[in-house]
Amino acid sequence: MSSAACIFCKIVKGDIPSFKLFESEKVLAFLDIQPLSRGHALVIPKFHGVKLTDIPDEDLTEILPVAKRIAIASGAENFNILQNNGRIAHQFVDHVHFHMIPKPNETEGLGVQWPMQ
Ligand code: C5P
Repeated sequence: MSSAACIFCKIVKGDIPSFKLFESEKVLAFLDIQPLSRGHALVIPKFHGVKLTDIPDEDLTEILPVAKRIAIASGAENFNILQNNGRIAHQFVDHVHFHMIPKPNETEGLGVQWPMQ
């Protein structure tokens, strides 16, 4: 299921370009266009749903393993995995997405090597 008006569904379809990190039948991961840090990535189910509660369980099973792989590939020792639901909770794109946000410190270089193998 996808939504014609949804920007992330357009990214899934390839109608809007993205820097893809990982893709499978059910999941897409790509770099955030307004990164909070180098390597800031989004992991999304291809199934369109606004909130986590809208997504079937079988479309969620790969999400955390993929976020984990991206975190490892980023080389970040410190990172946040975030997922916002609803405007009050700071969700501004209405398609479920998980942020993987590296938190480099002053001495830590980020040996980011994209795309993931
Ligand atoms: O969780 P929230 O909805 O606030 O985050 C949406 C994220 O999607 C933002 O970090 C924004 O930079 C990102 N985005 C993107 N590509 C777009 C539109 C938004 O990476 N075309």
